[in-house]
Amino acid sequence: MAWDFSTEPEFQEQLDWMRQFVREEIWPLETIADELSQDQLDRVYAPLQEEVKRRGLWAAHLSPELGGQGFGQLKLGMMHEILGTSAYAPNAFGNAAPDSGNSEILALAGTDEQKERWLYPLLAGDLKSAFSMTEPEVAGSDPTTLRTRAVREGDEYVINGHKWFSTNGSIADFLIVMAVTDPDARPHQRASMIIVPADTPGVTIVRDIGTMEHPIEGSFGKLGNHAEIRYEDVRVPVDSLLGDEGSGFLIAQHRLGPGRIHHCMRWLGVSSRAFDMLCERSLYREARGTPLAEKQTVQNWIADSAAEMQAARLMVLHAAWKIDTFGSSAARNDVSMVKFFGAKILHDVIDRALQLHGGLGFSSDMPLEFMYRFARHARLVDGADEVHREVVARRILKDYRAPEDGVPTEYIPRRREESVRRFAAMLEAATAND
Ligand SMILES: Cc1cc2nc3c(=O)[nH]c(=O)nc-3n(C[C@H](O)[C@H](O)[C@H](O)COP(=O)(O)OP(=O)(O)OC[C@H]3O[C@@H](n4cnc5c(N)ncnc54)[C@H](O)[C@@H]3O)c2cc1C
Repeated sequence: MAWDFSTEPEFQEQLDWMRQFVREEIWPLETIADELSQDQLDRVYAPLQEEVKRRGLWAAHLSPELGGQGFGQLKLGMMHEILGTSAYAPNAFGNAAPDSGNSEILALAGTDEQKERWLYPLLAGDLKSAFSMTEPEVAGSDPTTLRTRAVREGDEYVINGHKWFSTNGSIADFLIVMAVTDPDARPHQRASMIIVPADTPGVTIVRDIGTMEHPIEGSFGKLGNHAEIRYEDVRVPVDSLLGDEGSGFLIAQHRLGPGRIHHCMRWLGVSSRAFDMLCERSLYREARGTPLAEKQTVQNWIADSAAEMQAARLMVLHAAWKIDTFGSSAARNDVSMVKFFGAKILHDVIDRALQLHGGLGFSSDMPLEFMYRFARHARLVDGADEVHREVVARRILKDYRAPEDGVPTEYIPRRREESVRRFAAMLEAATAND
């Protein structure tokens, strides 16, 4: 038996260091980040990023040949739970989405020239990137319906299309655009990924969309915003193509598996912070003569939250272990399960903590109202929950067959009939004894 839930002491030390660093150096940023421009934020980050590099924790998601630490998904999972406690932490560790996923795409599918020009500067933190796939006019849940076209003309692709929710699109130096290169191919072979420098003529960043996370449209050009982008006769050389023509979905699949579990681990970081607030509040707030901690409903919330978070944690770590041991595709079902389960736990724990704080929880004097708004995106990104549930159910059902005669396998009258036949002699003997 090789099941082992222990953490190597050296890595535990790294985790302890990360926990303290994020709490002491990153959390304080949260309350002032909105007042800083992106340029000022970059300057605040610079020494923090240097410190992370000195500790050998920079870009840990990539292999050592690419300047990463080659941690593997299990260690990354544990690390992301700590980084997830603050939206500002991943950027200090060189593994913020979408740059982390984009660097994986470039590592996986990029040519040597593409790696030289885009990947290494991205890893060094000198460039920013965005992943531009979702379109307002068609369902993101069914990307085979994408309309953005890339037509080959001589040595160039000419791209026309309309995208939105390209995270970091307004601060990106380059965009990885998913575009249809062959509309007549089989649905999952129609689209390709193409690198488009953000300053290419014809690329228009229309706006950063106001969202539940950042309700007031107008904070243009900041980390974590989501851009609407028009591509109008955008010309890029054919060597901007990533991988083979038509391999867009294949590359996306490789990228999304690990990316999704990193999200889930970060959500656990958010949940555990809300959980700490839930527990703390229960101890000092009194109603009808006793602390809230003594009300059974509150005890249920605390116990249920702890159990659900632990279940989600084990699910993620198990999926991570499966990716490390058997590869991404072996863990597809596990990743889908953890995605919708983690999103629910995230919501539920924050909701309970907010409720326990009453009016204070609803106010912006506590981070809970922001966390609650933030949590809502988890049910949509990286595939809507419903799509993941559908995938999981479909795969599970492959192992089942409908009974040919329409009678359920477990139907008791029939099972009894069979048992009576099988044990007839024994039953007869038992009756004879009576
Ligand atoms: C915060 C945030 C960041 C994002 N970042 C990026 C990014 O960087 N790059 C990018 O390209 N995109 C990004 N997206 C877009 C995201 O990937 C899409 O929103 C998502 O894929 C859903 O697509 P849609 O919005 O078009 O919704 P739709 O596909 O229209 O789906 C709407 C709803 O329909 C239902 N539904 C859909 N399919 C099914 C089904 N099979 N069964 C049952 N119900 C179903 C679900 O309830 C779903 O929520 C981001 C989105 C958010 C919210």
